[in-house]
Amino acid sequence: MAIDVDRLLARVPTGLLIGGQWRDASDNSVYEVENPATGETLATLASGTSEDARAAMDAACEVQAGWAATPARERSDILRRAFDLVQERKEEFATLMTLEMGKPLAESRGEVAYGGEFLRWFSEEAVRDYGRYAPTPEGNLRMLTVRKPVGPCLLITPWNFPLAMGTRKVAPAVAAGCTMVLKPARLTPLTSQYFAQTMLDAGLPAGVLNVVSGASASAISNPIMEDPRLRKVSFTGSTPVGKQLMAQATNNVLRTSMELGGNAPFLVFEDADIDAAVEGAMGAKMRNMGEACTAANRFLVHESVAEEFGRKFAEKIGALEVGNGLEPGTTCGPLVEKKAQESVTALVQDATERGARVLVGGKPGQGEGYFFEPTVLADVPRDARVVTEEIFGPVAPIVTFSTEDEAYELANATEYGLASYVYTQDQSRMFRASDHLEYGLMGFNAGVISNAAAPFGGVKQSGLGREGGAEGIAEYTTTQYIGIRDP
Ligand code: NAD
Repeated sequence: MAIDVDRLLARVPTGLLIGGQWRDASDNSVYEVENPATGETLATLASGTSEDARAAMDAACEVQAGWAATPARERSDILRRAFDLVQERKEEFATLMTLEMGKPLAESRGEVAYGGEFLRWFSEEAVRDYGRYAPTPEGNLRMLTVRKPVGPCLLITPWNFPLAMGTRKVAPAVAAGCTMVLKPARLTPLTSQYFAQTMLDAGLPAGVLNVVSGASASAISNPIMEDPRLRKVSFTGSTPVGKQLMAQATNNVLRTSMELGGNAPFLVFEDADIDAAVEGAMGAKMRNMGEACTAANRFLVHESVAEEFGRKFAEKIGALEVGNGLEPGTTCGPLVEKKAQESVTALVQDATERGARVLVGGKPGQGEGYFFEPTVLADVPRDARVVTEEIFGPVAPIVTFSTEDEAYELANATEYGLASYVYTQDQSRMFRASDHLEYGLMGFNAGVISNAAAPFGGVKQSGLGREGGAEGIAEYTTTQYIGIRDP
């Protein structure tokens, strides 16, 4: 179904959502959203100020008590209706994401399916947030524990998965009975604006979800972080900004969920099915043009199969069609902005200067849009920046190893610990690998493993807390214990 882009953009609210009303910024300031495939302006939105952020926080606090007292079934039904509406609006959401973020339309549709699932999953979890009852071991008291919503939350999302990063936070917060202020990324707010309208259309009461986007992230987040009524901050983004928010969170002793950066190793052992590993590598590396915190960042390949893996991987990557994500046939879109294109270019240059061989790609695209050729690098030294830093682009560096222990040592040699991938046909190695790998997520012979029903999150500097699964709603609840003496 072809979407009329102008009509779609006209349906996306351009204001700030505060207390159920879309309104202009307090000082009438605006900012522009750009299409990274063309450099053209897509929309002009209200740019939230600190005053707007305070107003959004007021709106969230005003309805917190009433929302917490709303029966779980009602909250569940709203989420379920939102899930259905997202399915109905699938093409609209997909088109918006491709327009503002660049990913190919087929991948955007995949994100609608993935992101939408959080609404369905947490609609189901909303009514199953059980407490506990037991006598104390001494028998002198009866213990009752109940789960309560943690309270008003600040939710900050990145640009790379504009729908899923929002639903992954908003859905459990709604399910738990929390109110919230959502601050979407400056580069990709349109999907969040349309999602918030969809939540209203599904029956979410005014003030439960407030949305303030704008040109200055800290102008919006600082006053909210300082507000003593705030109870939790959930952030997905870079590790440096996450650390800054954690430091701010100490003042009011806030609950925090931090989904931060990654440097995922993709291990290919000598007994791996190489064709399956290449297939998995395509998903783990190229989904979202490599702009994912779970993106395979380092291909650690046994020296005996490195040549075959590199050759087959380069062949597949070289066959990708780079272009505007709205064009049929495009399988790799642009990077999100010029800065990203420059940063990926610098990483590849550093690697080649240190002796890496370019098997395919290696250069930024020409003309309008922030394209970069899908790239495979072989013989990459272990200290190259492309190995030690998060790439966030379609570049796959291959590093070889000779023993299993060396593979784990290399894999863990990073401050990050989000996703890892292991390809081997030896099932017992799966458990050895999971024992050794210091990662919150491990794909075993699987390159894409995110799922609304699974706990997503990292260790080390990749963050704290889990999103999705049963763990996802627990992040938005607190436990109250009641000790009851028999009359
Ligand atoms: P970013 O940290 O620059 O921005 C993330 C969000 O934080 C945006 O909404 C941004 O406006 C806001 N922000 C920026 N500075 C802020 C400040 N001083 N105070 C408050 N908010 C601020 O990250 P990004 O470039 O949008 O996203 C890329 C990063 O996110 C990568 O490092 C990636 O690995 C990480 N990421 C992690 C996950 C995960 O689940 N672990 C998922 C996606 C992306």
